[in-house]
Amino acid sequence: MENCFDIGIIGGGPAGYSAAIRASQRGLKVVLFEKSAMGGVCLNCGCIPTKTILHCSDLYKSFKKAEKFGINAAEIFCDYEKIFNRKNEVVQKLQKSLTKLVQSYGVKIIFEQAEILEADKIKACDDIYHCKNIILATGSKPANLKGLETDGKFVLNSDDILKLSEIPQNILIIGSGAIGTEWARIFAALDKKVTVIELESRLLPLADGDVSKRLERLFKKSGIKFYTGTKVENISTKSVILSDGQVLTPDIVLVAAGREPVLPQMSIKLDFDGKFVKVNENLQTNIPNIFAAGDVNGKMMLAHSAVHQATGIVDYISDGKNIHFDKTHVPSVIYGSPEIAWVGKTEEMLNGTDYKVSVFPVAALGKAMADDEIDGMLKVLSVEDKIAGAHIVCPEASSLIHQFALMIDNSLSTQEILKTIFAHPTYSEAVFEAVSGLEKMSLSLPPVK
Ligand SMILES: Cc1cc2nc3c(=O)[nH]c(=O)nc-3n(C[C@H](O)[C@H](O)[C@H](O)COP(=O)(O)OP(=O)(O)OC[C@H]3O[C@@H](n4cnc5c(N)ncnc54)[C@H](O)[C@@H]3O)c2cc1C
Repeated sequence: MENCFDIGIIGGGPAGYSAAIRASQRGLKVVLFEKSAMGGVCLNCGCIPTKTILHCSDLYKSFKKAEKFGINAAEIFCDYEKIFNRKNEVVQKLQKSLTKLVQSYGVKIIFEQAEILEADKIKACDDIYHCKNIILATGSKPANLKGLETDGKFVLNSDDILKLSEIPQNILIIGSGAIGTEWARIFAALDKKVTVIELESRLLPLADGDVSKRLERLFKKSGIKFYTGTKVENISTKSVILSDGQVLTPDIVLVAAGREPVLPQMSIKLDFDGKFVKVNENLQTNIPNIFAAGDVNGKMMLAHSAVHQATGIVDYISDGKNIHFDKTHVPSVIYGSPEIAWVGKTEEMLNGTDYKVSVFPVAALGKAMADDEIDGMLKVLSVEDKIAGAHIVCPEASSLIHQFALMIDNSLSTQEILKTIFAHPTYSEAVFEAVSGLEKMSLSLPPVK
């Protein structure tokens, strides 16, 4: 029948479109509903627009120190309106190519808001679609937290900030997680006055403690002011009052804390885990043929995690293959210069177990000296000779981290890793050196006493 499908997917973000492509590759008949534009938060107001702007601010930052490298670039200035327009062009191009890609797999895309009528029925624009399985991939949106309500003018969320074609001079950011840290680094690179407020006792609270300390140093170096263990007590039309009594008067406030799930209208009753859709280890909701992938289940709010979960669900539906989703195996990246990335366990998580630690300073690399990028480190943790975690502050950290993800996923021993030859001069040499350090065998550091 025309409106009968093996899988109905609600949401065209990373979870939704990956599930759709994988389902088609598995020979399943798929329909995907998207109420807005393909690509979800990631493409339209998350990963891609922010990284497009970040690339421009990084370029500007590099040009500012060009003289150190013997290049005369005295007259440089930054035109944010052009950066803003370029960001929009990149997003539009990717939206078009993504839509074509998904359609090239024979996936039927319905650009309408979808509603779950029954466990196997989706309604969109008065049409009913019969779906043997449903994947809820409706994502998340900024939460309007009590006391930090946004108005889109003075108090902005991560969506609002991307709509500004001009950035004011003095910005206050609430939250030092991935989004807050990234914007702080973008604005500081663009010569703005930036202040970050963090409720927890350290920046990037989810990172390894040493990474947080490094970020504090990097913030200080780039002139970013920060207050940890500090709460925003009150926001009025022009000022922000902190828990220590200080009154700050920024031009705008960016609330980079808190997200909540987006849910479709439903006539069925799903279970929730707090605010998010509750799922079992196979990402099944309490209704066995309805699954939830990506931000909507709140397990880990990252695009690659959404993709991994979504393709796992399709493999489970098509082949009965169980899903193994381990949060600690998902690489996390904090973009900016230098990049920060980690995978596996932090030293705090290993507290109480028998583990080894090796820290390699990036300054010991010829490549880092050549690039003048000496402020960084690779910290590696091992348990019973296997890599348990890696924490990187270094140029190219967003790529380097996958070497460790591979080691962890495949339970490689340090001896197995050290059989590999690492090219010189590269930042990857730091991977070799940090792992060698676990055996006290680094070739670029003095002997360990
Ligand atoms: C500023 C920012 C920067 C980020 N940067 C990164 C990054 O660098 N790396 C990274 O990994 N992650 C990043 N993220 C997180 C990432 O964007 C999300 O984890 C990812 O988009 C989640 O994918 P998803 O498919 O679960 O949901 P979403 O991307 O939110 O997609 C959900 C889709 O469902 C649609 N939808 C919702 N309800 C309905 C309905 N009823 N009917 C039809 N369609 C519906 C929505 O319109 C949306 O398109 C960032 C997020 C933000 C906010």
